Amino acid sequence: MTTNVIWFRNDLRVADHAPLLEACKRSAQLGDKVLAVYIFDPKWFGKTASGFPRVSRSRGRFLLEAISDLSRQIELLGGKLRLLVGETPSVLSELCGQAEIRSVLCHHEVASEEARIESEVRERLGTLAVEVVSYPPTTMCDWGNVPFDLSAAPEVFTKFRRLVEKRGTFSPPLPTPDSISKSAGAVTGEVTLAEVQALDWFPDCSVSAEDKKADLYRGGVDAGTRRLRHYLWETDALSRYKETRNGMLEFDDSSKLSAWLSFGCLSAKEVMHEVERYEMERVKNDSTYWLKFELLWRDFFLFMSFKHGAKLYQRGGLQGRKIDWSHDSRHLEAWKSGRTGYPLVDANMRELFQTGYMSNRGRQNVASFLTKNLGLDWRLGAEWFESRLIDHDPSLNYGNWNYAAGVGNDAREYRWFNINKQAATYDPEGEYVRYWIPELRYVPSEWIHRPWQMSQSLQETSRCMIGSDYPEPIVDLFESAEINKMRYAGKSQMRQGYAQQSLLKF
Ligand SMILES: Cc1cc2nc3c(=O)[nH]c(=O)nc-3n(C[C@H](O)[C@H](O)[C@H](O)COP(=O)(O)OP(=O)(O)OC[C@H]3O[C@@H](n4cnc5c(N)ncnc54)[C@H](O)[C@@H]3O)c2cc1C
Repeated sequence: MTTNVIWFRNDLRVADHAPLLEACKRSAQLGDKVLAVYIFDPKWFGKTASGFPRVSRSRGRFLLEAISDLSRQIELLGGKLRLLVGETPSVLSELCGQAEIRSVLCHHEVASEEARIESEVRERLGTLAVEVVSYPPTTMCDWGNVPFDLSAAPEVFTKFRRLVEKRGTFSPPLPTPDSISKSAGAVTGEVTLAEVQALDWFPDCSVSAEDKKADLYRGGVDAGTRRLRHYLWETDALSRYKETRNGMLEFDDSSKLSAWLSFGCLSAKEVMHEVERYEMERVKNDSTYWLKFELLWRDFFLFMSFKHGAKLYQRGGLQGRKIDWSHDSRHLEAWKSGRTGYPLVDANMRELFQTGYMSNRGRQNVASFLTKNLGLDWRLGAEWFESRLIDHDPSLNYGNWNYAAGVGNDAREYRWFNINKQAATYDPEGEYVRYWIPELRYVPSEWIHRPWQMSQSLQETSRCMIGSDYPEPIVDLFESAEINKMRYAGKSQMRQGYAQQSLLKF
């Protein structure tokens, strides 16, 4: 009797899962066995090029919870998820040497490293006469039915969206299989989740007192489904999404579905389907459309990642633009630790560090500040995001950073966010800033976004001395934006001025 392996990757669910459905079908029709595996590969737990850990404690914890939940879901279907450890191509070829395997079924992942691993697996298993069948990535639109050649996907989001909305298709999610009729037995080298946690390269996943809101992000289908139900049906927050989505303080300001989407505990089609059910049964308005609009941004970046491959991660970005980026380590450290002297930037960076999350508004602001005010290499920012975000997705993260740095597709020449204006618009009373920066708790609203302008006596009454309790701004906002505009345009004579200015501020 032959076996079909389902290689679970970032698709940790049993619904809307083409490989699982196919394996179950073959099991029912041909009598094949189903072998569900997840591989903990040390490759993903190493360091980024700049030496940041690739997986944070909270992301590691989310993954363990998601795997534990997936195991339970598979057991409910009558199967068993087998956990293995090691370099993916070797683990799969060893597995295929142990039993009579007909094929390995998986979802294709578009990010270049993930795609390369799949090619390696295909090559190694080819020598064992085992076929690897990969299914299209799980986008909201039907990957295989878009009105353009994949290698010619539009570079501009609006064009992409219009084409896909008009001439693409959006089929509903696939059903969960009724059952796994024949499950394969134990395999050599299986480990338990407790053993995974004890591996020296796996992050320590204990919850610390610093992990604010940690319990709000629990991995797994169950928790993702609960979040979806809460956001749509229990609170109707979805019906206000367009108005609240730029908020930074409240958990229901936006859907917060990104981590479940990133690990594939929920698929984009499942979310779309539920939003459409909500539109039919409750309310259909601009907000309900807008969530689907944002999910199309996700689709867009996945298509771009597929089209451009490794270029997405290169210094010059998708444009191959030559910019003499700075690598000033003091500036980078100030940005990472939330001590730039700009409260809006600092609050967001502290939130990221403590929770593994940052709102889209925050991400755009801190990315603009890093590239357009500090002039730092955008990849340093992207790597720090990779290291801290629970919802990290390489295509979305590096795609958005390309965009923010002005090196991506759809880049409109030099665009930067005026942090002062952004703060006044999105945090007028400074509530968000006070929540994350306790040093500024007693600063009056008038000064909360420009505390460096407080008089000495105001600093005393606000119990916040600038320069000791909270830093002075590390760069002048407008001056630095001008200098980096020249840097972006390739005018190197400004570089010296920038270095002098940086010195002045430290
Ligand atoms: C510099 C930068 C880096 C980013 N890195 C990531 C990342 O690693 N992983 C990630 O999931 N998102 C990333 N985003 C996109 C976006 O910020 C998050 O998806 C969003 O903030 C998650 O919160 P939410 O689920 O409440 O979003 P909502 O506003 O509720 O949006 C719903 C869903 O739409 C998708 N979406 C929303 N905005 C975007 C966008 N700009 N690009 C692509 N998809 C989007 C996400 O899947 C999101 O969960 C990044 C954005 C920027 C500017």
